[in-house]
Amino acid sequence: MPNQPSSETASETRNAKGEWRPPYGIKYAPLLSWPWRPLQVLKWLVSYPGFALPTNLLLLAISALSWMLTQPEVARCAHFKWDWMLWILVRNQALIWMYYGAYYLWLYVWKKEGTKGKYDRRWPARNSRVFLFNNQVWDNIFWTAGVSGLIWTGLEWLTMWLYANHHIPYLDWNEHPVWFVAWIIVIPFWREFHFYWVHRAIHWKPLYRRVHYLHHKNINPNPWSGMAMHPVEGLLYLSVALIHWVIPSHPFHFLFNLQHAGLGPAGGHDGFEGPIVHGKFPTGSYFHYLHHRYFECNYGESTLPLDKWFGTFRDGLPEGEGATLKDEHPGKG
Ligand SMILES: [Zn+2]
Ligand SMILES: [Zn+2]
Repeated sequence: MPNQPSSETASETRNAKGEWRPPYGIKYAPLLSWPWRPLQVLKWLVSYPGFALPTNLLLLAISALSWMLTQPEVARCAHFKWDWMLWILVRNQALIWMYYGAYYLWLYVWKKEGTKGKYDRRWPARNSRVFLFNNQVWDNIFWTAGVSGLIWTGLEWLTMWLYANHHIPYLDWNEHPVWFVAWIIVIPFWREFHFYWVHRAIHWKPLYRRVHYLHHKNINPNPWSGMAMHPVEGLLYLSVALIHWVIPSHPFHFLFNLQHAGLGPAGGHDGFEGPIVHGKFPTGSYFHYLHHRYFECNYGESTLPLDKWFGTFRDGLPEGEGATLKDEHPGKG
């Protein structure tokens, strides 16, 4: 493989099975860590990598461009008509293929990082009966772009129709600029909170066996595993954006929330510990990888310490070493 880097970094540690693990325990973002350090929080909010940069701002920029360049006018959506509906469908599919595709191309087709920082050295499964078409990636694309992508689009059709017909509360940018901005900041946190509880719910055995098992076929995830979900899970997961049916918001907030949920999982499942792209682009979620690897831990993500509070946190260190959760790795979060 010509693109494969010849050596792995010094921080690269693998166990006897060849599984990658960080030489440090996973840590939470400082936002709600105790003791509370306001300066660290501030630094985390604005630094690179941090809360805003790069992922949240990138997703916000995608939503802003989508809104300005591609979103049909709200008034047009008062009736279910194919012109605007088809437009949204095609736009969403284009977003999915470009966003998930970019991660997949870089890491799995061009293999630009080799296996450096790859949590599981193996590449996605082929000839495996576990997956549709006997192929993990094709299976994942079917569920992510096909099924979850259609649910995403359906929710958007319905919500645009609700806005256009004044059936749900509306927040005007000119009248409430502070709320408008506050919503944008709150959405990533709301997403994480919602995800944690939905995720715990679908780990309830009867739901797990019928619904969530499908996502967990991906013990070794790749970007396309992100929304590889049973339709019930897809609906529950994307219901994160239905908060805008209840709390006054601008349709842009709804769009951002939905696109954040729809695109975000690509990076969270890419299977690599960043930074990638010549060490410049932080990505990957060892936190969520551990959930795929061990199932009964780390249901949320690493900003809100919900797993820690509810006793489901696993830091990735070998048994015993990870007993203290206070130690923080300076380079993460
Ligand atoms: Zn997952
Ligand atoms: Zn799960």
